[in-house]
Amino acid sequence: MNKKIEYDTSKQFNRVITHVKSDKEGPIVIAMSGLHGNEPAGVIALEKFGKQLQKINFKGEFVGIAGHLKALSLNKRYINRDLNRIWHMENVEKIRAKSIEEITCPEEKEQKEIIDVLDKILLDKSRKAIFFDLHTTSAQGAPFTLIANEADSRELVANLHVPNILGLAKKLKGTFIYYVYSLGHMIIAYEAGQHEAFDSIDNSSAFLWIMMSNLGLIDPEEAHIAKWQDILAKSSYNLPKYLTIHYHHHIEERDKFTMLPGYRTFQEVEEGEILAKDINGPIRAPLSGRILFPLYQGQGNDGFFIVKTAKQ
Ligand SMILES: [Zn+2]
Repeated sequence: MNKKIEYDTSKQFNRVITHVKSDKEGPIVIAMSGLHGNEPAGVIALEKFGKQLQKINFKGEFVGIAGHLKALSLNKRYINRDLNRIWHMENVEKIRAKSIEEITCPEEKEQKEIIDVLDKILLDKSRKAIFFDLHTTSAQGAPFTLIANEADSRELVANLHVPNILGLAKKLKGTFIYYVYSLGHMIIAYEAGQHEAFDSIDNSSAFLWIMMSNLGLIDPEEAHIAKWQDILAKSSYNLPKYLTIHYHHHIEERDKFTMLPGYRTFQEVEEGEILAKDINGPIRAPLSGRILFPLYQGQGNDGFFIVKTAKQ
């Protein structure tokens, strides 16, 4: 890895990182970040992005939100539970009905505050927003998106030079992306690179600027879109545009799962290749393809995925 992110964990991030409104009509764009506390790149990118956006002409309204404030301050993925796995509709309703004092689980406290912020922004229930959900991965490698609303999103990511994973967003129940999608909003999740890589901040910024430009909310020249596109094109050189999930290796803590070192996001793997090990011995790739989300962190329930180029 080249340069690493250095951030002061004693610095308290605000729940609402940025909220800017133009006097020119336009949609509302809401960017979530840091739902996992070991993923500060998106939060840092949003701080910068909000400041820059105010300096140029834009349309509509932009809100940047930080997810797991407590875990971000500890540089931990989560405290008790994964904050990005508790967004089942009935759970959200349960949390919405409670007061913050009644909630003991640290993740549900964060969730309650996020719900309150979103409820305030989207007071008018008919108001449809465009959401982005910024993440990073434990493995090194190219940035990519997870898209839920395929028809609308394909157009939006057409000139975003990163691979796009189809189908996964709708399979991951309890994620923020699935929740927002179920409410009828447009949402794209974005994995900007490795958790600690300094490049992940720029990759996150590139995504935000290009999306705002593609939505017609900023002027591409004024926002230097060509520069941002170059950054992403370099990082995902020669990778397929659309991929689908063919295998998911789910793990539990008792499995003592360990990924073999050195796998990068989208690295090609052969059927039968030993990828990892657990208490039962070596774990082989059940099919050939490219590896996604190989797990190189202590916390999490996804060992790895195998993806293949989608028939477009
Ligand atoms: Zn994440």
